[in-house]
Amino acid sequence: MNLEKRRLRRCVTGLLLALWCGLTSCTLQPVEALGHTAIANQRAAMHTSAVNDVQTSNTSPHYTIIGTVNPTTRTLSATQTVVYTNRTATTLTTIGMRLYANLTDVGGRTTVTNVRVNGTVATPTYGPQRFFLSIPLATPLEAGKSVSLSMGFTTTAPTNTDTNLFGTMVSDGTTLSMPYAYPMVAFLRGGVWDTAIPDSKGDIVTHEISLYDVRLTGPLTGYTFVSTGTTTATTKTRNTQTVQIYSGLQRDFAFALTKLTKKSQTVSGTTINVYGPSTRVAVTNAALAAAVAALPIFNSRIGQYPYNELDIISVNAGDFWGIEFPGFVLIEQDQYTNNPNFEHLIVHEVGHQWFYNVIGNDVQRDAFVDEGLTNYTELLYSQARNRPTAAAQTLAYWRDDLAALRAAGNDAVVDQPMSAMTDDQYTTLTYNKAALYIHAVRTRIGESAFSAALKGYYTASKYRIVDGSGFRSAAETACKCSLTTLYRTWILVP
Ligand SMILES: [Zn+2]
Repeated sequence: MNLEKRRLRRCVTGLLLALWCGLTSCTLQPVEALGHTAIANQRAAMHTSAVNDVQTSNTSPHYTIIGTVNPTTRTLSATQTVVYTNRTATTLTTIGMRLYANLTDVGGRTTVTNVRVNGTVATPTYGPQRFFLSIPLATPLEAGKSVSLSMGFTTTAPTNTDTNLFGTMVSDGTTLSMPYAYPMVAFLRGGVWDTAIPDSKGDIVTHEISLYDVRLTGPLTGYTFVSTGTTTATTKTRNTQTVQIYSGLQRDFAFALTKLTKKSQTVSGTTINVYGPSTRVAVTNAALAAAVAALPIFNSRIGQYPYNELDIISVNAGDFWGIEFPGFVLIEQDQYTNNPNFEHLIVHEVGHQWFYNVIGNDVQRDAFVDEGLTNYTELLYSQARNRPTAAAQTLAYWRDDLAALRAAGNDAVVDQPMSAMTDDQYTTLTYNKAALYIHAVRTRIGESAFSAALKGYYTASKYRIVDGSGFRSAAETACKCSLTTLYRTWILVP
């Protein structure tokens, strides 16, 4: 069964600033690439085998966020500085940012104040739904140059009373879930800022691998911060706790403030934390067991998970089944039952850490790139656990689902924007036909080359944004053959 399908049924992150600028790089002109300390701090979130990956990333966007979280008002109030380096060949005259909370489908609100470029006040303009924020640059940003953008912001999450919302940013009374709660640098597609309102039948965030240095303050009693990355220090006052978080190289930053209790296990050098309802401890343990089993399988078959932590947290959003964020997975609380698909739901979202997070893609234009391979991780998991019946059922489901789409006369090109597909086309083509394409590659090139292709793809595409040619090239390198016709048959034509 396709485990994210339900996401579609809904139809599927003044004075203080002056002080802040005095303490950080945002008054420096020109802005220098990130310093040694800023990079070194990020090592704390990386797996021991990957700590040196951050050394080569001093041109990645670097976010510094200092804020206060209030679960009663469902708000994050913060200051943010982004050191952004123009890694394109195009001179930029604006910096685009996205305020995901403002999307009608997300149903929250982000307000931005006191925007400054290299310390000088700038006046941004907004696009529809106040989603896209365009910040003018008085001095155009040439290729290879960096700029410091600072601002204050407040983000408010909706409650879980409207099940027509996307459901990811939500307060359910136990957990305040805050993905994409900060102003995020927009996606530059071919040197042009993507200003479009995302289609929310699937994932909505395409973002460069970035480094996050986040300090959050919340209530002392009853709550735990859960987030992308690793908390390296917690300080407490009589009423508050403050956590210092470093993300390492992650594609986004999500966090939650929760009353849920934690079950943890460390496997292959990565600590997995699962937060579930106290009334469903057995299911929480089952989620932990599935993630603990999946992670080393994917380490072995694809490549090492490069972080030292992965968090899985349940939320009562009343909508999606599960959704991935970097190092942070949300699972709908209703799924914490004896649903036989629960194990594969966990495995799927864990698989996304390889395909979506470490290897990125344009999720609106090329959703099949991560969903097809992530779907395929479920098959890899069943096979690695020596469950041939489950593997056969997964394959049969994909084939039956595609056959049904074809019987209805709705088969179509896989490599097309999500917005051009119907809901049925999106799930069948993006998840299942794309997974069958991966299986067709495996059948064509054989087990040995397929194993090399998975590893080669990971090595070549790690921390990048790629399209469908990435895996195809890796497979062609592995088999020393051409897959042009096979790719065309499965991906480029109906
Ligand atoms: Zn998925």
